[in-house]
Amino acid sequence: MLSADFLNLGRDIEMVNNSEADWFHLDVMDGRFVPNISYGMSIISTMKKKATKTFDVHLMILEPEKYFEEFKKAGADILTIHQEVSPHLHRSLQAIKALGMKAGVALNPSTPVHTLEDVLCDIDLVLIMSVNPGFGGQKFINHSLHKIRQLKDMIKNLGTETLIEVDGGITLENAELVIKAGADALVAGNTVFSSPDPADTIKKLKQSGK
Ligand code: ZN
Repeated sequence: MLSADFLNLGRDIEMVNNSEADWFHLDVMDGRFVPNISYGMSIISTMKKKATKTFDVHLMILEPEKYFEEFKKAGADILTIHQEVSPHLHRSLQAIKALGMKAGVALNPSTPVHTLEDVLCDIDLVLIMSVNPGFGGQKFINHSLHKIRQLKDMIKNLGTETLIEVDGGITLENAELVIKAGADALVAGNTVFSSPDPADTIKKLKQSGK
């Protein structure tokens, strides 16, 4: 939703409600962990009033554990925190789940997937950042495909049910490659909202994996 039109947010939420999209992906940035500041709980809880699908909240913030409860109250169904800001990742994941949310962990492009090996069985979703987090509309980093394949192998070997989500630079051109590498969920902002027919673009992205 970072790429939605904030003057017409109600219209854009309605579009997603009526589209083939499965989730709303909400990027929260603090101007500290990432160079940009986006939106927080009040916008999310306002959006929640109109939205009819799962709220997938991606926290690009320092000390995310301070706000788990507030994001739950705002309407988060899945709460994803960054590995790079979580020295006590296992504890943080348990805290998210104890509040009744699914727990996700995001990895920056430079963070190896093996850093999650010892907590993978506690993670519902791993978010592979395929651009450096902070801004929409960036170009997909091709090495991400290698990380997705590595992670997929790790999940198979450990026999967990962890989903792989990929965020950043997803287009109609590369969606199929990303899904073939092992992605279960794709985040698309700019590709959807800057297209002439966003609902049709979502439909085409969903067909990329079939
Ligand atoms: Zn995101």
